[in-house]
Amino acid sequence: MFFMAPPRFFQFTLSLLLMIFSLAASPGVFAAEELVVYSARKEHLIKPVLDHYTKKTGVKIKLLTDKAASLLVRLKTEGVNTPADLLITVDVGNLWQAVEQDVLLQINSEVLKENVPHHLRDPKGRWFGLSIRARTIVYNTEKVQTADLSTYEALGEAIWKGRLCLRTSKKVYNQSLVAMMIAELGTEKTEQVIKSWVNNLAAPVFSSDTKVLEAIAAGQCDVGIINTYYYGRLMRKKPSLPLALFWPNQKGRGVHVNISGAGVTKHSKKQKAASAFLEWLSSKAAQNLFADGNMEYPVNPKVKTASEVAAWGRFKQDESNLAKAGELQKEAIRLMDRVGYK
Ligand code: FE
Repeated sequence: MFFMAPPRFFQFTLSLLLMIFSLAASPGVFAAEELVVYSARKEHLIKPVLDHYTKKTGVKIKLLTDKAASLLVRLKTEGVNTPADLLITVDVGNLWQAVEQDVLLQINSEVLKENVPHHLRDPKGRWFGLSIRARTIVYNTEKVQTADLSTYEALGEAIWKGRLCLRTSKKVYNQSLVAMMIAELGTEKTEQVIKSWVNNLAAPVFSSDTKVLEAIAAGQCDVGIINTYYYGRLMRKKPSLPLALFWPNQKGRGVHVNISGAGVTKHSKKQKAASAFLEWLSSKAAQNLFADGNMEYPVNPKVKTASEVAAWGRFKQDESNLAKAGELQKEAIRLMDRVGYK
């Protein structure tokens, strides 16, 4: 009887078997997932990292790039209907805003705890640093003796009168820097320091770190405070500029560092896959891809810094938890306003 079964039945059984075999042979078919990433990092920096992950795992990644503030509004507005699984942004101040807006999921991952140093992740597991940028002192090598440099605070001393250039206090980088100073020194002392900086300004505040660097190189001022990768970018283009980095507060709390980082969104429908992707971003395999493109430092201590960045020298970094920069952000803004730091 069996041999008498109609050919159509055989065809059906055969194709069913084939389907089962092919599914079993390629687990990617089951894993074929798509993640949606909202990113405030520039597309050219993040895209190669995402492509690498897709190639490795088969997980497709849709990228939406915008400014951090716009992405937060979008996440908040979309609420439970958001297609986003992961938010990637720069500066802990922005990640803190995301926490405030309640758009990030608390995750408990041993991998992330292992790969991301304690001070560079949220104690509650809602955001994790993925690369480090130092906000340090830069000086004109033709006009400044390094012996005269020591701390951020000392940039307010009389010797720097009319010689300091700063970026606007509206930028979150400076808000985080001042918030961390409040955390370490207290409000009163920090207010004195920032007031003394304002008194020493050589020019009105600038709209970007690069403009600060260019003003120092041009001799408009002699010292300033910038994120390391802006220095790296400019020196790559114009290596002969008379600029160098100085690592302040080495006998004390260390250099202020900040992060670019990420969190899984609270309303992601693929929290497991999103967490796995975040874990991978902190791994050895991804860290150089993530950090080197923007001349930043990997967060994972087991990963080597790119040689071009390592050449700027080793330094002690401030290891206080960056969550403070978020908690004290509003206070920092008010303080800067009080002392006339525009
Ligand atoms: Fe930047």
